[in-house]
Amino acid sequence: MGSFADFYRRSIEDRDGFWAEQAALIDWETPPRQICDASQPPFTRWYAGGRTNLCHNAVDRHLATRASQPALICVSTETGTERTWTFAELHAEVQRMAAAMLELGVRQGDRVLIYMPMIAEAAFAMLACARIGAIHSVVFGGFASGSLASRIEDAAPVLIVSADAGSRSGKVVPYRPLLDEAIRLSSHKPGAVLLVDRQLDAMNLIAGRDHLWRTLREKHLNSVVPCEWLDATHPSYTLYTSGTTGKPKGVQRDTGGYAVALAASMKYIFEGKPGETYFSTSDIGWVVGHSYIVYGPLIAGMATLMYEGLPVRPDAGIWWQLVEKYKVTRMFSAPTAVRVLKKHDAAWLKKYDLSSLKALYLAGEPLDEPTAQWISQGLGVPVIDNYWQTETGWPILTLANGVERAASKFGSPGVPMYGYNVKLLDENTGEELQGAGRKGVVAIEGPLPPGCMQTVWRDDARFVNTYWKSIPGRLVYNTFDWGIRDGDGYFFILGRTDDVINVAGHRLGTREIEESIASHPNVAEVAVVGVADTLKGQVAMAFAVVKDASALTDEPARLKLEGEIMKAVDAQLGAVARPARVRFVTVLPKTRSGKLLRRAIQAVCEGRDPGDLTTIEDPAALQQIRDLLAA
Ligand code: AMP
Repeated sequence: MGSFADFYRRSIEDRDGFWAEQAALIDWETPPRQICDASQPPFTRWYAGGRTNLCHNAVDRHLATRASQPALICVSTETGTERTWTFAELHAEVQRMAAAMLELGVRQGDRVLIYMPMIAEAAFAMLACARIGAIHSVVFGGFASGSLASRIEDAAPVLIVSADAGSRSGKVVPYRPLLDEAIRLSSHKPGAVLLVDRQLDAMNLIAGRDHLWRTLREKHLNSVVPCEWLDATHPSYTLYTSGTTGKPKGVQRDTGGYAVALAASMKYIFEGKPGETYFSTSDIGWVVGHSYIVYGPLIAGMATLMYEGLPVRPDAGIWWQLVEKYKVTRMFSAPTAVRVLKKHDAAWLKKYDLSSLKALYLAGEPLDEPTAQWISQGLGVPVIDNYWQTETGWPILTLANGVERAASKFGSPGVPMYGYNVKLLDENTGEELQGAGRKGVVAIEGPLPPGCMQTVWRDDARFVNTYWKSIPGRLVYNTFDWGIRDGDGYFFILGRTDDVINVAGHRLGTREIEESIASHPNVAEVAVVGVADTLKGQVAMAFAVVKDASALTDEPARLKLEGEIMKAVDAQLGAVARPARVRFVTVLPKTRSGKLLRRAIQAVCEGRDPGDLTTIEDPAALQQIRDLLAA
């Protein structure tokens, strides 16, 4: 195929020619009139005039050649169930779901919020939305009522698809009460709620609002719902992600550009072949779940394996057992999951026949060298790090082994992918940092390639101001990550420039956690920072000032308040956002102008030098934190 350097150069220098060729990787009802419309920066319209459909490309398109081949494999070690749907069976289920949605009043452009555990119906619902042109907004099942309510409020869904419960480590996690509370908190009320009854938790249906999937499925067993041909720029979904403020942003993605970007990445990056099995261990609530559990593998004609359960239950061999059984060729996971496995005997990696497996891709957080070495040696396959974000939908930095084989370098996700004009910039001046070894902000020169976010849902100003105007003097896309490049052009990611933290591969905004903690009646002020953790990458650490110090007379009282605060975070945001500790101080370190010195607190927590403190109002505030940690 030639050299990656040439491939990359062409993607930047002959953008339209390059992406016109990639467009041929998917089916179009009407071919695009224009490839890249970048006439209104920083907005980009890919494949304007073209009409296509994501569900057609993921499902219907394969019926002629592989109707009876596996498309979706769902394994739950939580409920002990395991089932495969062929492309023909998936096609039928998606039409039933689409018919149910139409009956419940969903029309093209309407939002459907999906709050589901990792079950087949979640994939049916996403594909059904794509089929009829509804915009799905999947909310991670680990989020609680507060997070869910803010997303319902912003997305204003006509329909919510949910289930009675999820299950974690054999324990039933009811969804319905959290959903009801979220709907109560939100000023927007959905017209209908479609519920999958897994018979894990009893549900009382609310007449007129709630509908059972089982009943509607029976009714629409033979329904035929054709794919709606949608403009390439029609939004396919929104996915909320954390940023610097407490309010999550709805990352909005298009239809045609996304389909092409995924098809291209399956070919050049993941090298997935039709008829093979892809296994991504992520969750449908995250971007990896959208791109590489549901759409990407199916667009490539692969079977996709959806797994509900822990990597170490019933034992640390479960994933490898599945790789053997379903002859998985490409697997995608996160460093945290590997660090969890690493606590178990490496013999688990050798117990099953893994000869089908060609590579393991890891993303979502920095991959440390010992973790990469351990898993790569244990499995005997290449481990390929890839760096990207909810906003981009597919990797920014990795290796395109489907174009030209390249060596991995431990600690580096790789080089800029085709279509991404990646720069390192000086944070303050916007000056481009050329050459090797200089630390800067990782930025991307527009237009962003296909598949990346179109805008922030219903907030173009936020899209422009947050992502494109944060580096002085330049209209460039800011990733909010620090990076450095070596002499071979490999990048190394050095952490976030903003207040986003990454706990076990989950992206969380410290401001959201602070707002949740501050809702406790006895909390006056709080600072939350991410602190390095050997297992989870980072954990959230909270330092709070209380209103009534008499609540903190002794250690049991402090622990009681800490427990209450954690419970509040659990109830509002979900256990994923729960801080590892809440410590109490009498004052928080701030600048004289009142800005919280989060980076200084973080440095102290990690035993590093907090740096220049000339602007600090009260140095004793940091000393208090040091003393607490030393005690
Ligand atoms: P998310 O939007 O949840 O996918 O989180 C994106 C953020 O996770 C990035 O901005 C990085 O801070 C971090 N991240 C993702 N992948 C990697 C990686 N391979 N190496 C280092 N950091 C990563």
